Amino acid sequence: MKTFSEEQFESILKKSQKGLKKYLRSQYQDYTYADGYLYVKGTAPVMVIAHLDTVHKQLVKTVYKRYGIWTSPEGIGGDDRCGVYLAMLLHENTGCHVLFTEDEEIGTIGARKYVARKKFPDVNYLIEIDRRGTNDAVYYDCANYEFEEFVSEFGYVTDYGSFSDISVIAPVMGVAAVNLSACYDNEHTKHESIDIYAMQRDIIRISEMIEEETALFEYVEAPKASAYYGDWNAKAWHGSYAGSYNHMDKTDSTAKTAKPRRKNYDDYFCFECEYAFECQVLDSYDSACLRFEQLSEDDNMVWSHVG
Ligand SMILES: [Zn+2]
Repeated sequence: MKTFSEEQFESILKKSQKGLKKYLRSQYQDYTYADGYLYVKGTAPVMVIAHLDTVHKQLVKTVYKRYGIWTSPEGIGGDDRCGVYLAMLLHENTGCHVLFTEDEEIGTIGARKYVARKKFPDVNYLIEIDRRGTNDAVYYDCANYEFEEFVSEFGYVTDYGSFSDISVIAPVMGVAAVNLSACYDNEHTKHESIDIYAMQRDIIRISEMIEEETALFEYVEAPKASAYYGDWNAKAWHGSYAGSYNHMDKTDSTAKTAKPRRKNYDDYFCFECEYAFECQVLDSYDSACLRFEQLSEDDNMVWSHVG
């Protein structure tokens, strides 16, 4: 298993986007290089994605290292150099495909150029590594419940985000995608920091995820939140039940009083708790959590748009 090299990571943090792309080209044999991205061919059926640009205007000159936390007065650029370095190590360890994109921060430009090429590797799912924190998994508009369950088995906790490279790439490739924590924090500020120990742990954790044999996880588009449901759903709707709940008969006149029902299951689900992975199944409203009861009281909010 290829392990973390402080020296190599520090040199990656100090490069410009252009310099980094050139460095990466020198590291690989089998790659495609074009304006906007660099794709490294793999053998494992997973593609890892990270972006080469950072928001910081100055190049990193000084790196402060204390207790496994790295910062820089220039802004350390862990977003997304952490993702870039983890992607390199994961490629060495697992043989995953890797896509390095350019100019994510100014409008997912590299990702758009990549999908325009219309030629993609045959993979079961995509992992982007470009999320703050050390334990988040963000799916955006992809609502494949089985995929979320698979990722959660590795200790990741579902969170929500607005937009990223996989929001552009996953629907076009038709495969499920997740954005995992890259172990940076306070991104887009000079106080940005990197948790080195968490990165070291995640080389092992994500390698194990990629090495686990899976079938294809398809891209399942979550229904648009605003069409039927109020603001409340804008967040929760992207949770795990969204894909299956979509199959509920929206023309049924009794739908107003219907409880949430997951396809293929006879039990009722508490929206909030399923999202939180706490209690999973409800027999009746009586066993619903407080949050669920509060939502249910306001019929307009929860149910009136169904049907
Ligand atoms: Zn980023």
